[in-house]
Amino acid sequence: MSNFNRRDFIKLSGTSLIGMTLGGVALKAQAQEKLSTDDPTAKTLKYTPKSEVAGAECANCMYIQGEASATHRPCAIFPGKLVNANGWCSAWVKRPG
Ligand code: SF4
Repeated sequence: MSNFNRRDFIKLSGTSLIGMTLGGVALKAQAQEKLSTDDPTAKTLKYTPKSEVAGAECANCMYIQGEASATHRPCAIFPGKLVNANGWCSAWVKRPG
């Protein structure tokens, strides 16, 4: 005959998971690297960092963004990239005004 004694109660303590907030970790909204002419979209749109089209360059294109004084600026057509202000691509549209 076996005698089972329930002597011990194992009390499992609930483990609190403390939510850790990674404060201060800022996600970079976008990488900001110069657009390469090897970029597939750049190739498709014939992007060049040096415009050969008279009167048309990134600096006066409606898609250019960022500071007017910067040599490399964001472009709405190439998210996360910087285009040369002296550049050009076939999506060029004269900036109004
Ligand atoms: Fe330059 Fe083309 Fe962007 Fe216009 S759309 S800013 S021409 S890369």
